[in-house]
Amino acid sequence: MDKEFRNLPGVDKVLADARMVRLGEEYPHDLLVEVIRERLETERRSIAAGKRCASLEKIVEAVLAGVDALEKPGLRRVINASGVILHTNLGRAPVSEATLAAMDAVSRGYSNLEFNLESGARGSRHVHVEEILCRLTGAETGLVVNNNAAAVLLGLTVLARRKEVIVSRGQAVEIGGGFRVPDVMRQSGAKLVEVGTTNCTYAADYEQAVTPRTAALLRVHSSNFRVVGFVREVGIEELAAIGQKYDLPVLDDLGSGCFLDTTAFGLAREPTVQQSVRAGAALTFFSGDKLVGGPQAGIIVGEKSYVDRLKRHPLARALRIDKTRLAGLAATLRHYLREEATAKIPVWRMIAEPPEEIERRAGLWAKTLGNAARVVPGETMVGGGSLPGGSLPTFLVAVGGGKKGTAAAIARKLRLLETPVIGRISEDALLLDPRTVLPEEDEIVVRALQSLADNLK
Ligand SMILES: *Cc1c(COP(=O)(O)O)cnc(C)c1O
Repeated sequence: MDKEFRNLPGVDKVLADARMVRLGEEYPHDLLVEVIRERLETERRSIAAGKRCASLEKIVEAVLAGVDALEKPGLRRVINASGVILHTNLGRAPVSEATLAAMDAVSRGYSNLEFNLESGARGSRHVHVEEILCRLTGAETGLVVNNNAAAVLLGLTVLARRKEVIVSRGQAVEIGGGFRVPDVMRQSGAKLVEVGTTNCTYAADYEQAVTPRTAALLRVHSSNFRVVGFVREVGIEELAAIGQKYDLPVLDDLGSGCFLDTTAFGLAREPTVQQSVRAGAALTFFSGDKLVGGPQAGIIVGEKSYVDRLKRHPLARALRIDKTRLAGLAATLRHYLREEATAKIPVWRMIAEPPEEIERRAGLWAKTLGNAARVVPGETMVGGGSLPGGSLPTFLVAVGGGKKGTAAAIARKLRLLETPVIGRISEDALLLDPRTVLPEEDEIVVRALQSLADNLK
């Protein structure tokens, strides 16, 4: 073993390798020395475990690979062929060109984020989306924070700390990713008062729970599940009427926050923000990167007296949104004002894409693989806590159907490409859905499939 240890090269010897010298022109000396030392330490441990010392060649290669890994961005673009439009693990909504341009413009240089150009005095970051939000939703005013979880936490903290909030038992839910209504409630310092049963809650249940300590009535959209059968819920209009009767604000956590009529696309009816405002919710909360189709944000619209209290609270400062996403969100919202959402916002382009067009694209993808792939009808999920259980008809490319394990192996190959392509596996076939892939990404998918073709044909 001692002999093996003696074979271990010194740092200088590794550094003297021609490829390391070239690397040294690009990277700081200290960084290379650090990576080499770590590698040699690994070797030392492996020798101590009874292994033979690796060759200098192998050690240099490992160091090169280590530096290469540092270069590769951990967070990078992938192609979403999974058939879930708002896939939280894949970053939810891709944004429009105009949104990107707006984010780019305020990131490159300075901006009037909190500077009033008219007066030359200090301004507020909130003004940049306020008016658009009001026009779109009919609300008195609006406020944007980091994400919807932050928006709900802020609302409950400001309005209901050390008081009670009444929620239907069927809505004390977990949305996923750690957002549980009872936990957020506890964090805000509000006491959750559950009423009704898992499947049925009536107006009287809310009314009987009102006490002098009640601060608000909360509705939560059951984003990611559906209760079927004998179900009774109190709608937002009726809840608002109860709120009015007892002089209590109604808080509506919509989650997805939709502006358009989803039934026009053959989907179930997703509650819209406009409906909540019209019904009389004091505050309505929703995400910027679900069905709105913009950057991550938590949007709050509603009555000025309540929104102003939220704005003034110190927590609003801690949960504030940055200039980049604020500019991007305003650009996304403008698409709705111009009634061009289905042409410009990627998630709505996906929802609105005709099946014939998807079938055509699926055909192009499948062609690259010859007999190893076929086009089959299937379903696209909207996802992202919207339209639970709802789906759109689509056409899928099915690869490697039949032999067990083939589909998983192909899926892995596609995941490990320079630009990963993510599909889903069902019944031993890898399924790729063109609906969730931007048309301008088709070329990348075709190239990815071509790289598989030789192994499959
Ligand atoms: C998604 C969702 C949230 C959390 O929103 P984020 O923007 O992810 O923080 C909260 N409530 C409901 C009902 C949701 O669907």
